[in-house]
Amino acid sequence: MAAGPKERWVVETLYETEGFTCSFRADEVRYEEETGQQHLVIFDNALFGRMMALDGITQVTERDEFIYHEMMTHVPILAHGRAGNVLIIGGGDGGILREVVRHKSVEHVTMVEIDPAVTDFCKKHLPGISAGAFDDPRLDLVFADGAKFVEEADRKFDVIIVDSTDPVGPGEVLFREAFYRAAAGCLTPGGVIVTQNGVPFMQGAELRGTIEKFGRIFKVASCYLATIPTYVGGPMAMGWGTDDASLKDIPLAELEARFAAAGFDTRYYTPEVHKAAFALPRYVRDIAEA
Ligand code: SAM
Repeated sequence: MAAGPKERWVVETLYETEGFTCSFRADEVRYEEETGQQHLVIFDNALFGRMMALDGITQVTERDEFIYHEMMTHVPILAHGRAGNVLIIGGGDGGILREVVRHKSVEHVTMVEIDPAVTDFCKKHLPGISAGAFDDPRLDLVFADGAKFVEEADRKFDVIIVDSTDPVGPGEVLFREAFYRAAAGCLTPGGVIVTQNGVPFMQGAELRGTIEKFGRIFKVASCYLATIPTYVGGPMAMGWGTDDASLKDIPLAELEARFAAAGFDTRYYTPEVHKAAFALPRYVRDIAEA
């Protein structure tokens, strides 16, 4: 359907060079800025609610954000079982932070976001994503490049969640082996790192790259899947790196006990979905284990 005379459509440009774009009608633009790090736009769409895009790439939508944030957070924390210290790299909208602080067992969470504008404008224009989590007393919010932070960190973490943009712009450094090695150096024994690793059907090389690098750093290098409608192209991969092989195979009964003890409801995550997320379709296994 052709755009109307005054309609604005925000184009998803992640796959533009490959010859694919999709677009979201912006019924109302709430904020738009060149932040100095990246182009940020927050707008309302009839189907997905309020959305944010950075450098033309969809980051978060009110309608489907719960899937990504629950699966990036509860899988590593419940698999670990004793996560007291959590590090979030990126995550400016606060969705990962919101899910992390639901775990009363987490004593301290450090969040390292490169662009304060993202946090400022998401708190103001997308408050439902962080839902007050930025006020949690356990939070240490650091505005810095995540790659530099892990190079210089003098603290260790049980779980590291890399909620980055795609490997373009400021996010590119978070896909390099040097970052993964430095992050591995910040993990406690038996700790686990998970990474936003794109949609393998569209970005197979990105997942392959991370798994290869993880393979040179950790005893276990793998991924798990969840399908987020606005990350187009099928299920999205979440990179998994750890030296503790048992974390990927926690028995269902144990996950159920841990989830029950955590004492909160979810809309996507369940212990069964957690287990199933590691069952990779052949085409993803061929990418991840090539
Ligand atoms: N869920 C989204 C996705 O899957 O693409 C990611 C959401 S979150 C908005 C991504 C965040 O990573 C942004 O706030 C961005 O500013 C931040 N970021 C990008 N590069 C970074 C870096 N080098 N260090 C820290 N944060 C970074």
